[in-house]
Amino acid sequence: MQELFKKLPKVDRLLQDEVLKLHWNEENKPFFLQAIEEELSVLREQIKVGEIVFENALNYQVKMLPRRILARASKLQIPKLKMVINGTGVILHTNLGRAPLSTAHAEQLVGILSGYSNLEYDLEKGERGERNSSFSALLCKLTGAEAALAVNNNAAAVLLMLSTLCAGKEVVVSRGELVEIGGKFRVPEVVVQGGAKLVEVGTTNKTRIEDYTLAVTEETGAFFKVHTSNYQIVGFTEDAGLKELSDAALKFGLPLLVDLGSGAMLDFRNYGLSWEPSVQATLLAGADVVCFSGDKLFGGPQAGILVGKKHLIEKMRQHPLMRALRIDKFTAAALMQLCHTYMSGKSSVEQIPVLSMITEPLEQVERRAKRFRILLLDIMDCCKISVTDCVSKIGGGTMPLQEIPSKGVLVQPQPMVIKATDLEKRLRRLAVPVIGRISDKSLIFDFRTIKDADLPIMAEGFLSIFQEEKAKDKSFT
Ligand SMILES: *Cc1c(COP(=O)(O)O)cnc(C)c1O
Repeated sequence: MQELFKKLPKVDRLLQDEVLKLHWNEENKPFFLQAIEEELSVLREQIKVGEIVFENALNYQVKMLPRRILARASKLQIPKLKMVINGTGVILHTNLGRAPLSTAHAEQLVGILSGYSNLEYDLEKGERGERNSSFSALLCKLTGAEAALAVNNNAAAVLLMLSTLCAGKEVVVSRGELVEIGGKFRVPEVVVQGGAKLVEVGTTNKTRIEDYTLAVTEETGAFFKVHTSNYQIVGFTEDAGLKELSDAALKFGLPLLVDLGSGAMLDFRNYGLSWEPSVQATLLAGADVVCFSGDKLFGGPQAGILVGKKHLIEKMRQHPLMRALRIDKFTAAALMQLCHTYMSGKSSVEQIPVLSMITEPLEQVERRAKRFRILLLDIMDCCKISVTDCVSKIGGGTMPLQEIPSKGVLVQPQPMVIKATDLEKRLRRLAVPVIGRISDKSLIFDFRTIKDADLPIMAEGFLSIFQEEKAKDKSFT
């Protein structure tokens, strides 16, 4: 074994290999060094476990080494985080980055991101400005709030709200709302993290206003209402209405805090969907602070947005946690642009991708699916391709029961050419990966979440895979 180890080539010698020398330069050298280290340790391991025992077996492996190193180094240089095409029909896909921004918005960001900006500089006064000032007034206008603030995400917003307004005090929450949002974000634990004491009231299915009022003590800091975004309790349920709750809060001189989760700005019932409480309606009903995600139904960048009474928002802005949770210039710029778009009223629905996907008429989705099918004419000899009905979901733990009728393209490859499971894998590994769903022996792509600009890229990906498969086929016959 020791002899075999000694026969392994040295790093410097490998770098001087004729093939590798053609590919590495000073800039990409670190990737080649990493690839060399990794390939050598694969060989060392094989020797150690007795997979390589004889010298000629090792010589053969060493001969193959440069090609393997080259392949590995190329792979290491591909950016790991990249654009993908979402054919799942899940609009706020948690694994695929939740809300996408529009290309127009992204282009407007370039100028701000690639240079300096007045992020914290007041151009009127020529002095230090406020990070949230570019969008907070707009948010107030849009939601009817007195003041607004943004932090890194909604989990952070809840933490900041509780830490600022309830630390050392009791927080009254309904047992029907002790939610786990995902990623270990559980309401009871966040309350504790915020330094407050949780007081559970009511039962899982019924919580009445008296349950809240009877729980009030000297120690009570707030009523806290959490929107049960990702589940619904159906059947015999009862829930203290927001108006009732805010009246009671007022009577006791307590703030009513609401974690709304999604941050809907529209009434989705106008689009044939179910009711989801909007930010405006929640404030109007008397909530003192409402927090919500920037990248769920609001359709913007990842952020936690806090809107509500001025003196409460101001307290949060002054809290030491604020510095740790603050947003960066990317988020500030994107939020500002999104608010401008919302100001344009009705047309905002077309300009904000999340909203346009949710509300796009079925016929329009179908037309896109049909256009894609035609782009695949060249491979119809090796797969059946049809336009089919399917169902899109909102995703992101939002409106979990809501189904949106949609149209998809069903691709059923001939097993002789490629199996559906292999096709799914190959599509995932394209330069621009295409993510679909396997359904029986077919793949299905929902066109509600696929945009016009994706079609040629996606078709190109499909054609390249089938061309390769056909070429393989020929080489065997
Ligand atoms: C999604 C959600 C959160 C967490 O928001 P993030 O922006 O993902 O941090 C918190 N509360 C509720 C009710 C939610 O739906």
